[in-house]
Amino acid sequence: KIKTRFAPSPTGYLHVGGARTALYSWLYARHNQGDFVLRIEDTDLERSTPEAIEAIMDGMNWLSLNWDEGPYYQTKRFDRYNQVIDQMLEADTAYRCYCSRERLDTLREQQMEAGEKPRYDGCCRDTEHGHTPDEPHVVRFRNPQEGSVIFDDQIRGPIEFSNQELDDLIIRRTDGSPTYNFCVVVDDWDMGITHVIRGEDHINNTPRQINILKAIGAEVPIYAHVSMILGDDGKKLSKRHGAVGVMQYRDDGFLPEALLNYLVRMGWAHGDQEIFSVDEMVQLFQLDAVSKSASAFNTEKLLWLNHHYITTLAPEYVATQLQWHIDQQQIDTRTGPELAKLVTLLGDRCKTLKEMAETCRYFYEDFNEFDADAAKKHLRPVARQPLELISEKLAALTEWTTEAIHNAIEQTATELDVGMGKVGMPLRVAVTGAGQSPALDVTVEAIGQQRSVKRIAQALA
Ligand code: GLU
Repeated sequence: KIKTRFAPSPTGYLHVGGARTALYSWLYARHNQGDFVLRIEDTDLERSTPEAIEAIMDGMNWLSLNWDEGPYYQTKRFDRYNQVIDQMLEADTAYRCYCSRERLDTLREQQMEAGEKPRYDGCCRDTEHGHTPDEPHVVRFRNPQEGSVIFDDQIRGPIEFSNQELDDLIIRRTDGSPTYNFCVVVDDWDMGITHVIRGEDHINNTPRQINILKAIGAEVPIYAHVSMILGDDGKKLSKRHGAVGVMQYRDDGFLPEALLNYLVRMGWAHGDQEIFSVDEMVQLFQLDAVSKSASAFNTEKLLWLNHHYITTLAPEYVATQLQWHIDQQQIDTRTGPELAKLVTLLGDRCKTLKEMAETCRYFYEDFNEFDADAAKKHLRPVARQPLELISEKLAALTEWTTEAIHNAIEQTATELDVGMGKVGMPLRVAVTGAGQSPALDVTVEAIGQQRSVKRIAQALA
């Protein structure tokens, strides 16, 4: 059975790069009816925080990237890592190293001066130099000295590293704590991970991890390294580019469906199709269709997708996502159109739910100020007569439908022998307070009869 994992280090929120890696791992598992594991790599005690763990899970929950196992925490597994290290010492696939910091520093300096890549020289590999285990020491992995490590990266193709480039990695520090690369290896083994899908910044760790896996008799998983995400300026995506935490996109008014669609397309393609529902992604996702090259973030495209989903998903569903933004705006929606109706009214005009929440207030709350420009242009003395007449007609309607409202506006224009706009624009400013709104008949209908008439009176006052 296929098993993938997402293994974030909880040092910040879930950023888009991490979210995409998580999505690909999740899709691969779902596509193959496998399992998806969440593992929190919190061994860096200085930089890991409970807030970050929460932020990562919030982000995954918001995107509905559900996990079948976990979350596992590396900090809870130290005994297990040390148990494996002790077994390796026993089996001589690892050894104690007593080299002092000074010696290692000097060695490094000499190597650097000679223009060599700094690496441990294997001083303690075959002899303990008379030291005993009760003295301070680290434990190093006995990396093979000959041959090479080859793995067939599912995205990049075969990758080969010569063992000579890999030195004997420290797997346990002097203070007894296991090191990062080692924990990953034991975890992938214990958790039965079959496919490791992760960022390309881990490519250099892979041959080391493979060697350790082989040494402990574990099956080596299949690897796939996903490329980086760049900002629209071609530089590595960072805070400078605006929102990079997934929840920031929620706050900015994006639907999870839009972000998921955006993320999956950033580095993966299926023909020239752009729109993918989550079900479709699950059905179609393949690692060999993931691109090797870095992808650049494109906010315009994300906005386009968001608008697409706002206008095509069920309004009742979009409304559930909109609710949060309505609450942020502190709008009391009890006396106005249902949110689902608002979505159909404003969807066409809005690229984000935030925008929708920010521009819907007049449907629910009265106002006593008009947009200055709109009022100057459309609430002039010449507008009095059309407003008085349309107000009368609206007040007299016995059936409050868009059709009836439309006819009332039309009749007013005919009776006064003016263009529709001479009635429509003053009416729009009067009932909405602004110069822009969805189609007037639906807007007036949604605002309601009493309210509309009252607002026209206010504009005439
Ligand atoms: N914890 C690593 C990271 O956040 C991921 C390691 C892995 O996937 O093997 O970059």
